[in-house]
Amino acid sequence: MFACHICCYPWDLLDEGLTDVLDCLRDRIAATGLTLIVATDEMEQFRPRSGVEPRIHRTTGGVYFLPNEEKYQATRLKPPIWEQHRKMDVLAKVSEECAGRQLDLRVGINPLLCRRLVGKHPEAACKNAYGIASRNALCPGNPDVRQYVLSLVGDLSGYDDVSAIVIEDVQRPPATDPAPHVQALAMFDTDVADLLNVCFCESCLQGAERDGIDGQAALRCVRSALDRLGSRAIPQGWTLADLLADNPSIARYITWTDAVYLDLLKRLREVSNKSIILSFRNAPQTFVELEHAPDLFALADRITIDAEDLEGVIDELSRGERFAGVLTPASVKNMDLLLRMDEGSIDEAPEVVRQLTWAAEAGAGGTTVSHFGTILDHQLDWLHQGLRNARRVMQP
Ligand SMILES: [Zn+2]
Repeated sequence: MFACHICCYPWDLLDEGLTDVLDCLRDRIAATGLTLIVATDEMEQFRPRSGVEPRIHRTTGGVYFLPNEEKYQATRLKPPIWEQHRKMDVLAKVSEECAGRQLDLRVGINPLLCRRLVGKHPEAACKNAYGIASRNALCPGNPDVRQYVLSLVGDLSGYDDVSAIVIEDVQRPPATDPAPHVQALAMFDTDVADLLNVCFCESCLQGAERDGIDGQAALRCVRSALDRLGSRAIPQGWTLADLLADNPSIARYITWTDAVYLDLLKRLREVSNKSIILSFRNAPQTFVELEHAPDLFALADRITIDAEDLEGVIDELSRGERFAGVLTPASVKNMDLLLRMDEGSIDEAPEVVRQLTWAAEAGAGGTTVSHFGTILDHQLDWLHQGLRNARRVMQP
């Protein structure tokens, strides 16, 4: 059956009533499961449905379940617990209620972005070429960070009724926070400014040196390139690819940082007995161009594609173009397309129906819908209608 997972934050379940929400998922939408987000950064969410209070939910982020402290003994980073969680283990409760309704339960985490953890452990943050640390990005090159992520996944694996762990927004965390100086560089209309997102923290520089990569040389080249960009001393139309071709030390270093991140994802397999789902944001740009895409697809049990141009992706998918050589018809079955009901992109019932029908015709295994708390009341019925159509046309 064409699967449908609805992403929920724990506060949406608590504020709207856990049993009411789960009944709505199963009976009104005909969803097959729920993806409970259990680790995020600080965030603010406007909730438009009638009767939901508070209208704006604000959280400082952290983990939204009761962690097993023993699992984190090998890392200095300890999971920052959501304040409301001290009263009840929402994940345990949700797990029990989902099992009783035959709803599949996945948990979603974005473990490398956490302002609370960076605040406590500034040494674990990503650092850009100018030595400025990120305020929320934890560096996967830091051994404590790697162990923290593995501990978190191992801890969540202890919940029997959880079928899969979803790693949200798969990409190396950016070393520079979105800020005016980044926008200033963006106006030069070249992707060379992306170099600000390469991490040069102490852990990365030491790790690279151990592996025979000259991180200091790469750092000097990156700074010089960014300085030249700032003073407009670079040719018109100059791209990052041109720069990497001329500066193998930077290319080698970036390849090394990618490999460190990939290795962390691969190790999730060793600590988890659950399915691992990788969710790619703004795909296909971010992952198809990644030279590691085949490796990433091979290590995941399922992937979720969150594309700005969902129709374009579906269209190319159905013609077998962009994904040729990376996705096979068999692996497309293990792919969900992410439907964002909350960004104003879907404002008509036929659009929801059309997109879900196309996804099913293209062979996708299902959809993941983001996020329950922000879906308008009438959109719930559109979803139901879309799923009914998708299931009718789904390839056998
Ligand atoms: Zn680093």
